[in-house]
Amino acid sequence: MIRSRQLRYSYPGGPTLDFPDVDVAQGTVLLLSGPSGCGKSTWLALAAALVAPTAGELVVADQALGALKNIAADAWRARSIGFLPQKLHLSAALTVQQNLALGFWASGQPEDAARIADALQALGVQELAQRTPAQLSGGQAQRVALARAVLLQPRVILADEPTASLDDEAAADAVGLLLATARTHGATLVIATHDARVAALIPATFDGQIGFQPLRLVRKQL
Ligand code: ADP
Ligand code: MG
Repeated sequence: MIRSRQLRYSYPGGPTLDFPDVDVAQGTVLLLSGPSGCGKSTWLALAAALVAPTAGELVVADQALGALKNIAADAWRARSIGFLPQKLHLSAALTVQQNLALGFWASGQPEDAARIADALQALGVQELAQRTPAQLSGGQAQRVALARAVLLQPRVILADEPTASLDDEAAADAVGLLLATARTHGATLVIATHDARVAALIPATFDGQIGFQPLRLVRKQL
């Protein structure tokens, strides 16, 4: 579940962004659309407790984020949020297997090789476990990053521009994979995108099990 009220974020020396209220039921999809610069990535950073709101309320996965501080925020994020960033941030010096193991370390849990293998297998990339990120295609790297994001069964999956620079077929694959993965885990899925194709792909690729709530962010100068 995600709930926000009068959420605002002011960049020090930058713009003030006011976000529309949202109520997103667990297991449904929220599409954050709108042009570049309207605040989509900022909203994701707020939802992941990477930055604190300047004002307003935000509850994500039953946690009121205003009450979370530093270390508690890190532990909560590692447990509750699966983040698929626009730049995937796979560690170049580590293998795919080790990149996933980082998720266990970040959440203070012992590494579980069987769960890593399962997560890779669910996304069809188990044979890539010993490769490094430089040895992956773009699509393979995105699958690995998604496997990493859902490794710890997060309640919420946040995807930032998952179709950026993909052709139509690859974009449909990426969105389909996100929806299927979210459904498998019963997770709430948030897709932030300026790509108009995504809104059309969501109803086309899910079978009605997942509710779909579009939210258009409009940039407003204060
Ligand atoms: P989107 O993801 O929709 O393209 P962002 O959330 O990245 O939008 O950015 C929203 C606005 O905040 C933009 O005007 C952007 O220039 C500004 N912004 C983003 N990051 C910073 C920052 N670190 N410092 C100052 N302004 C920023
Ligand atoms: Mg962005």
